[in-house]
Amino acid sequence: MVIIYFVGLFIHVFHRLKVQWLWVSVTFWAIDRSLRTLRLVWLNIPCRHFRRGCSKAEITYLSDDVIRVKVAVAQPWNYLPGQSVYLYFPTLRYGFWQSHPFSILNRTEEYLDTKSGDEGRREVNELENRQDQQTAFTTEDGDKSFESPLLPAKTHHNNRKEKYFHFLVKAQTGLTRRLRDMALSNNSCHLTTFVEGPYGVSHKFDNFTTVLFISGGVAVTFTMSHLVYLAEKKSRNPGLKVKQVHHVWVVRKQEDIAWISEELDQISQLTLPNNFLRMSFYVSQGIMDINQQIPVPKLGNAKCEILPRRADVPRVISDEAQERLGKMAVVGLVLPLL
Ligand SMILES: Cc1cc2nc3c(=O)[nH]c(=O)nc-3n(C[C@H](O)[C@H](O)[C@H](O)COP(=O)(O)OP(=O)(O)OC[C@H]3O[C@@H](n4cnc5c(N)ncnc54)[C@H](O)[C@@H]3O)c2cc1C
Repeated sequence: MVIIYFVGLFIHVFHRLKVQWLWVSVTFWAIDRSLRTLRLVWLNIPCRHFRRGCSKAEITYLSDDVIRVKVAVAQPWNYLPGQSVYLYFPTLRYGFWQSHPFSILNRTEEYLDTKSGDEGRREVNELENRQDQQTAFTTEDGDKSFESPLLPAKTHHNNRKEKYFHFLVKAQTGLTRRLRDMALSNNSCHLTTFVEGPYGVSHKFDNFTTVLFISGGVAVTFTMSHLVYLAEKKSRNPGLKVKQVHHVWVVRKQEDIAWISEELDQISQLTLPNNFLRMSFYVSQGIMDINQQIPVPKLGNAKCEILPRRADVPRVISDEAQERLGKMAVVGLVLPLL
């Protein structure tokens, strides 16, 4: 599209303007494109460890047209909460030329037993946070062991550390719908997926005593990435200024809470002070949708509640402001659900 635009522009102004000025913008665009392409290749095509293969994703259907995209990246990199990336799906027949922006929900590390494939996987987060399991870990094969990365590294050569980036994607009418259909047809699918980024600035909330997060639907990717970051930081450093965090999330149905079950698991394994975290799940379809058989998530000593109504956002904020312990940050994404 951009090339067609530039050709059209040159044809139109050829006799009227000094064309050399157009070359300046073409040069800037070409430099930007070349750098982005180089970065895309570097991050997703394993130039150094060729046997690892290109970045690829496992795409799983959740509920309410939302899929979870879990990308194993060829070249791991760091990100800050709230940042986003562009995802490419180069092997798709329809849409291989497209890239779409998505917020990073989380990053996890898992050990992949290269001998026995997925069976040898162990969540590193789980290991890192369970003090009693930090000495050694036996794989399902029962014959190999490795130590948690918090301890001096002593990793068996059969256990490869894989880094995953997690995204929640709400199906719209284009490429995201196609991904949803693919995930729906097999419950999950695997696809070569390139990641480009990260982009965007990250805001820090470490200097506030009270932090209130409010989101609805897939906007939880933004608030949850900050929450996981703050909770992990608090568990590592109990002296952190943040004393209370309230996460308010509005979903349509109670089953949608499972979209973030991996992150809730991750938080439940952290050692957090009493009254540090409160999670409120508002189910906007109301009491009729509350299924008593789906348990309220348990998060250690954090308080969790399911409320069968839409969130009254001004009231939630004023209630929180009354109970705040000091300087308070309100982080919210305004969506139709709210
Ligand atoms: C910084 C950022 C972070 C985002 N994070 C998430 C997220 O975590 N989860 C999520 O579900 N969605 C997220 N989105 C929205 C997501 O990018 C779009 O829903 C997706 O691109 C739609 O793809 P589609 O082909 O199905 O779109 P279509 O059905 O063709 O269009 C649906 C809507 O998406 C917009 N759109 C389409 N392509 C793009 C594009 N390349 N860039 C920007 N907007 C586009 C269209 O203008 C339209 O409004 C984010 C958007 C931005 C800008």
